[in-house]
Amino acid sequence: MFVDVAVPVKMTGTFTYRLPDGMGAALGARVVVPFGKKLMTGFIVAVHEDLPPDLSEVSIKPIARLVDEEPLVTEEILDLTRWVAEYYFAPWGDVIQAAVPSGMRLASEVSVSITEAGRQALAAMTPTRLKLSARAQALEMLGQVESLPLTRWEKKFGKTRAKAILRELERKGYVRTRYDIGGPQVKPKLQELVALSDGPRSETRRSPQAARVLDILAAAEHPIPLSELAARAGVTPALIRRLAARQQVTILRRAIRRDPFVRTGETPPLQWFELTAEQAAALAEIEKKLDEGTYATFLLHGVTGSGKTEVYIRAMHAALRRGKTALMLVPEIALTPMLSQRLRSHFGEAVAILHSSLSEGERYDEWMRIARGEARIVLGTRSAVFAPLRQLGLVVVDEEHDTSYKQDDSPRYHGRDTAIVRAHRQNAVVILGSATPSMESFHNVHLGKYVYLPLGERIGGRRLADVEVVDMRQVFARHGQQRVLSEELLTALQQTYERGEQAILLVNRRGFSSLVLCRRCGLTIRCTRCDVTLTYHRSMERLICHYCNQQRAVPTSCPSCGGQYIYFVGVGTEQVEERVKRLFPQMRVARLDRDTARRRGAHEQIIREFASGAIDTLIGTQMVAKGHDFPNVTLVGVISVDAGLGLPDFRAAERTFQLVTQVAGRAGRGDIPGRVIIQTYYPEHYALQFARAQDYEGFYQREIQFRQALHYPPVTTLIQVIVHHRRAERAQAIAGELVAQLRRADALGQIRTLGPAPAPLGRLRGEYRVQILLKTRQRMAAHRALEQALDALRASRTDTHAIAIDVDPVDVM
Ligand code: ADP
Ligand code: ZN
Repeated sequence: MFVDVAVPVKMTGTFTYRLPDGMGAALGARVVVPFGKKLMTGFIVAVHEDLPPDLSEVSIKPIARLVDEEPLVTEEILDLTRWVAEYYFAPWGDVIQAAVPSGMRLASEVSVSITEAGRQALAAMTPTRLKLSARAQALEMLGQVESLPLTRWEKKFGKTRAKAILRELERKGYVRTRYDIGGPQVKPKLQELVALSDGPRSETRRSPQAARVLDILAAAEHPIPLSELAARAGVTPALIRRLAARQQVTILRRAIRRDPFVRTGETPPLQWFELTAEQAAALAEIEKKLDEGTYATFLLHGVTGSGKTEVYIRAMHAALRRGKTALMLVPEIALTPMLSQRLRSHFGEAVAILHSSLSEGERYDEWMRIARGEARIVLGTRSAVFAPLRQLGLVVVDEEHDTSYKQDDSPRYHGRDTAIVRAHRQNAVVILGSATPSMESFHNVHLGKYVYLPLGERIGGRRLADVEVVDMRQVFARHGQQRVLSEELLTALQQTYERGEQAILLVNRRGFSSLVLCRRCGLTIRCTRCDVTLTYHRSMERLICHYCNQQRAVPTSCPSCGGQYIYFVGVGTEQVEERVKRLFPQMRVARLDRDTARRRGAHEQIIREFASGAIDTLIGTQMVAKGHDFPNVTLVGVISVDAGLGLPDFRAAERTFQLVTQVAGRAGRGDIPGRVIIQTYYPEHYALQFARAQDYEGFYQREIQFRQALHYPPVTTLIQVIVHHRRAERAQAIAGELVAQLRRADALGQIRTLGPAPAPLGRLRGEYRVQILLKTRQRMAAHRALEQALDALRASRTDTHAIAIDVDPVDVM
């Protein structure tokens, strides 16, 4: 028997191995296989009796170890990951790896053993040497044993030191190393429970402490957790363990759940609303499809606060009632702790959550609960699209327009689109929800592929906030200089504060100012590895690259001309925070951006404090625009969105329209009407005009004309290819070759190829980037041509690792 194994390496295709006699193999099980000089973990994706004709029996290596008796990945998920791999040009092994929690990965282990030369050297060492030299001590540890895990050295000498010692001893030929694959990195968490043992108990030599322990246990109905028992009896855990060694008590181990909900606080009481007519109509359509058991995608287009979430929840109940399970994707759970709570109040333990700020252990436990069928509702971010739910009946993608659904490194898959494919194959129903649907989804409504469900009214007949635009050119003219905050916004902020209401200020960049400029020679300080300027972070007193995190000291004079006129240009969140705090010393101000939300749970913390009213004004990046429902927010200020409009990206207007509309939707969600103030240097830009009028249709009609005229998605398929290389000529050459092959493969001329040309972000992390854009109305033709071109490059031994393919890119920078 032979098996095909998908291995997580940057190579396409699978690898064939022999299955040793007597070893069973199931699709989706993990195996350890020899791969080059190393061992690697892969997944069985096919089992067959015959070898393909191009392989010879003798060259096939056997599998080293079968890890799972029961497959870890279901066949359904294997099929889905295969689709992702093919559609997005990603290695299948990589995709499967992304589909399971990282804690499931097996640890790679390095073990060290001593050689004959090492033994001789050790024998010749003097006692002083053994005492003083770490290398000698390391060698001595190996003297008595066959081999030692490298971790033992690491514990004694520290990680880097251990590595250096290893290198040195290897160089001298004193030790040899072996690479192996160990157990999973994360294991179930065990709790120790103590019970009386069954056997006879000796009454002699019983200390008063031991007596207390035994008395408590005798009175208890259930085994007691060890730590709790120690506390209650006032003894040390060690004493209880000694009792266990003497068979006085028994210690049992039980796996306990690491519950991510413990951090999100109290679950609120369950609320059932009477649905509005619009909500009820939408739900009826959805239930009809659930009854038919056929695939359908709905676009639930509801203005902010129109009760979309309530529709999702009812649809989930409806799916559960029909014996199905449900998956809900959100862009970022940490930002919406209230949503997890709301689901918990409806579905209790049946909800599992999966997202990146869980600990590895929590994610492992949640995933296992889903796999075992204990959790039938999954709330998660992008990779939760691969959650091992069975009988999937419903998929909800909230804020479906959000670009964070697209993974920005390999595998570059889109969570929303993958969810739709999964649902289609499972005959499940999809609800895409948004106040600002993506151009793609709305276009699909027009094409009749999606069913449109509008929620046009806010709950309780609340009005959308009034939007005012402040022309910053006039503010400049008034003062003869640039202002961060206009009088209009300042006055509004003051009034909001005095009324005891809350405000949100959106700034599109973190840090203090976006660039550092010498007024004498015009030099801007740039990253040495990327084609961008460095951002000044005052809290750290550093200049930082937002792409590669390169950091530098802040110069006091120009590094080029030595001039003293160093200017900090552009406004970031830190600067707005500092100004607001200076102007309103009493106001409680908090900042939410990647810098303040780095620590696990910091997001939730800030959001919770704002929701509880402990913060008056929340300043932040687009993180503040997402999905929250704060009834007491009556003012939203947009400080700078202009930079976004200037980006050389065909989605710049769409992005800005969505951002402004979304953040505007945060105002006036309670009983008091809200106000939105947008500061801009381009008040006439259509994205701002339509956002101001909260006119989605108007924006779509205008934007689709532009996409049609320039052949951009959603009217065409776009594939971006970036060739990246340390040497610019090499990147150019590979890109040139690829384009030539593409032209050859596209005999019918169905693909429009642009480039090769330097990418807008021409250098990143020290590599030059050359861009090729493929536009086509024949998606399959483009896929085939690209496949064929890549094959041709591989055949001519061109380095295809330099080629990064992004199918349906969300940005083309
Ligand atoms: P969206 O997801 O569209 O922003 P939500 O579903 O969060 O809207 O609803 C906004 C607010 O209205 C929430 O506080 C929610 O509890 C409440 N709500 C939703 N549906 C109803 C309803 N039918 N009757 C009363 N209140 C509702
Ligand atoms: Zn950089």
